[in-house]
Amino acid sequence: MPPRSVNSICPVITVAEHLNRILAMVPVLEVEKAGLPEARGRFLASPVTAAIPVPPWTNSAMDGYAVRFDDLAGASQQSPVTLRVVGDLPAGTGEDPAIGPGEAVRIMTGAPVPAAADTVIPQEMTDGGLEEVRIEEQLPRGRHIRREGEDRAQGDQVSPAGIELSPESLAAMASAGIGEVIVARRPRVAVISTGDELVAPGEPVLRGRIPDSNGLLVTMLAADAGALAEADHAGDGPGQLEAALGRNGGCDALVLTGGVSVGAFDPVKALFEGDESVRFDRVAMQPGKPQAFGRLGESGPLVFGLPGNPVSAWVSFQMFVRPALRKMQGAARLFPEAVPARATEDWKTPQGRMQVIPVRISDENERKVLPAATGGSGSHLIASLAAADGYALVEPEVEKIKAGDLVPTVRLRDPEQFNHPQRRQP
Ligand code: AMP
Ligand code: MG
Repeated sequence: MPPRSVNSICPVITVAEHLNRILAMVPVLEVEKAGLPEARGRFLASPVTAAIPVPPWTNSAMDGYAVRFDDLAGASQQSPVTLRVVGDLPAGTGEDPAIGPGEAVRIMTGAPVPAAADTVIPQEMTDGGLEEVRIEEQLPRGRHIRREGEDRAQGDQVSPAGIELSPESLAAMASAGIGEVIVARRPRVAVISTGDELVAPGEPVLRGRIPDSNGLLVTMLAADAGALAEADHAGDGPGQLEAALGRNGGCDALVLTGGVSVGAFDPVKALFEGDESVRFDRVAMQPGKPQAFGRLGESGPLVFGLPGNPVSAWVSFQMFVRPALRKMQGAARLFPEAVPARATEDWKTPQGRMQVIPVRISDENERKVLPAATGGSGSHLIASLAAADGYALVEPEVEKIKAGDLVPTVRLRDPEQFNHPQRRQP
């Protein structure tokens, strides 16, 4: 009798092998134009250079008086200099009044400095006169003047390609005279939760049923990774998953949760078993060992089959789906930075599998870390996931973590972003 499944005898592959296979198949999407307000969180497709200098013209850094430095020679409390005020320049004016010897112009912060002036004397260092102004101090030539182009000259680079556009980078572009940018199209992602036991969040949970938390979780994580993501559901019965795939065939990626292991009713496994285009692997990772990945048909959407346990689905998303979505959008960096943190308690790790464990992280003085769940590393502990700031990556050969060990950690959120009541301090 042939084996029930070729995959049940297939060897375990490493996290890196699985990831590389995924990334090799992920296409980079086309690009489109977006206005700056719409571009937030999207990925810049080509470098942006300054269309105008920043600042666009030489302007005053203070409310005060634009003067000729030479007129203030020897000015002091004992021998103040008095200048005739020949103009008044509010912010927004385009005027460039002439200033002769012994003359000054009142000027407000941000107003263009007249070509004839070379120094600004702050209001507080004068008597504030409107006809004449008394100045008791000589400042160095050029003081309180912001030079045209001192931040960026016209044509200088403002942002490199591949960055995720932040409020700060978009504000920098706005200041450089840019009104729209070229960004990658957002990937369209359908998140399909599989399982007859699932009920929509908030619906009554009868015996045997559980709320579908993965749909919400993975859809939101995909949106955070730049995708236009929608949740769907397929029961375990014959034809139900196929119908859901049909409904979502126009997407760039389908992220399925559940049904990828060897259960009698696992629909993802059942549907793609023996199909070359979607491969089932056992990945040396804890949690998240069963993984499916491939393409629907010849040119259809990518298919990610993640295990159904919510912590496994979360870990699988972070390790495999998020980098893929970033690659689709042309991101320069696919992975977050992993920073060593000092473990504040012992925890168990699996032999021969990379452990990706949700953790609490504290960054006071030195980064410190402990597991987010108190009751061990169970992949079903979804409520404990709420206390995680990120995850730790423990290499397969590490036998156990002891308090004081250094462990690479990825922080996903800053502590001020939420305040979970049951949080323990690392
Ligand atoms: P499966 O991979 O389908 O065997 O599911 C593994 C475990 O994860 C089972 O306990 C499921 O009930 C649970 N599970 C599967 N899908 C979801 C989901 N969308 N939300 C919450 N739990 C799930
Ligand atoms: Mg299932």
